[in-house]
Parts: sequence; C-alpha cells; structure tokens
Amino acid sequence: MPSPDPLHIRFQGNLRELLHPRLRNRSSVGLHLREPASIKDVIESLRVPHPEVGIIEINGEPVDFSRLVRGGEEVTVLPLPVPCPVLEPTLLRPHPLDRIAFLVDINAGKLGRLLRLAGFDTVLPSPGQEDGEIARTAVAQGRILLSRDRDLLKRSIIDFAHLVRAQDPWQQLAEILTLYGLKKQVDPFSRCLKCNTPLKPVTREQVLERLQPLTRKYYSRFAICPGCDKIYWQGSHHEKMLTRLQNILC
Ligand SMILES: [Zn+2]
Repeated sequence: MPSPDPLHIRFQGNLRELLHPRLRNRSSVGLHLREPASIKDVIESLRVPHPEVGIIEINGEPVDFSRLVRGGEEVTVLPLPVPCPVLEPTLLRPHPLDRIAFLVDINAGKLGRLLRLAGFDTVLPSPGQEDGEIARTAVAQGRILLSRDRDLLKRSIIDFAHLVRAQDPWQQLAEILTLYGLKKQVDPFSRCLKCNTPLKPVTREQVLERLQPLTRKYYSRFAICPGCDKIYWQGSHHEKMLTRLQNILC
C-alpha cells in the first residue's frame, strides 16, 4: 500500500536555483510516491543532478544516494560545501579522487582552455564523443566533469561533477576555482593550452632558430611543450591574460 502522506523534500542553498521555477520559492516540495524510490532518483526527478548534492538528511540523519524513501518522510538536501572536498571520502562519495584534474564538456570549451592557462590538468572530449563515453572517460581518468548539460551529470557512474552556472568563461573559471578551493594552486602558463602537457622552461638560445626576429629581440623567457613542441614566451598577450587571472584571484 503506498503511503497516503507525501514525502517532503527541502533543497537548500544554490540547489534551489536548479529546481523548476514554480518550485524554487517553496520551502519544501511535497511528492506522492506510488512506491519507495531511491533518494537519488527522487532528487534527480526534480532536475537536480546528484553530483551537485553535498549532504542528504532524512528525519535528521545523513543517508547515501541508495536510501529508499517513502511517503511521510522529511528529506533535506544540502549543496556541495565550499570548498568542495574531492580528495577526501564522504558519505555520498566514499571513493575520493587522488588529484585535481578536469574533463570539460564541449559546451564549456573556453573554460577548459582557461583552466589550462591557470595550470590545471584539463582535457576536453574528442569530437563526436557521446555522453556515455564522456562520463566513462571522466570516471576512468579520475577527473571532475564540468558541463552545462544536466542530463550528462545525472549519469549514475559519475561522482565528481559540476553544472557550470556562469555564462562568461572567465566567470566560469572563478566559479570553479572557488568551488574547489583552488585559488592558491593556480600556476599560470605552466601547461600547454593546446595539448595539456606541462611546459618545460628553455633558454632563448635553445629555440632561437624557431623565433620571429621581433620575438627574439624583445623577449627573454621561453618555455616549450614536450607534447606538441609549441613554444611559449612572456609577451603582451601573456601579460593581459595574467592581469585577468589576477583579477579573479583577489
Ligand atoms: Zn602542447
């Protein structure tokens, strides 16, 4: 017999903005369940992807995603804490990551480039890669998946992911650095923007033959990508990017 009482579910913090607009301003959502369902499925039926959830409490007790819920219960769903602990086990994510690394979906490709600019290990999907494959790659490589696609984030194999909220790529970068507490780990121009390989400093003499005359003349600090052989130097473009990066770090 299904319970005649509704399940009451209360979303806190920035999870509320993910709910359907007509539910956002309610203090809790009442749901009539025909049969017991996992709390993960219930949360996702209300448009909130499970990787956005930090803690779930039922009648005041923390529970994991597999907990079956029924009518009459009171559920509170809290967002990820800031900074979000991806390197330590939690009740919802008992298998933490072993390092900070990202897979950025094609719908936030510019963010991927900016994360590399800030020095973070970041890959993008191959062209034409399907959602299932993107999710499996993120999990297999131990990467945090960043996307603007909720359905991709709802895939159950994913533990660590974030629905990117900001529209502007620099604001998206600020959003990610804040969420994962990474501002102090920013290491600008330490990674190739093209292929993600860590750069190696070289002297001007080592790359002299490959430089344009003006680059040779005006710049003295160079680095090379051991992955794709691209040469980087600290020019005016570099300065501009550094200023923008510093602006979001304060
Ligand atoms: Zn490279």
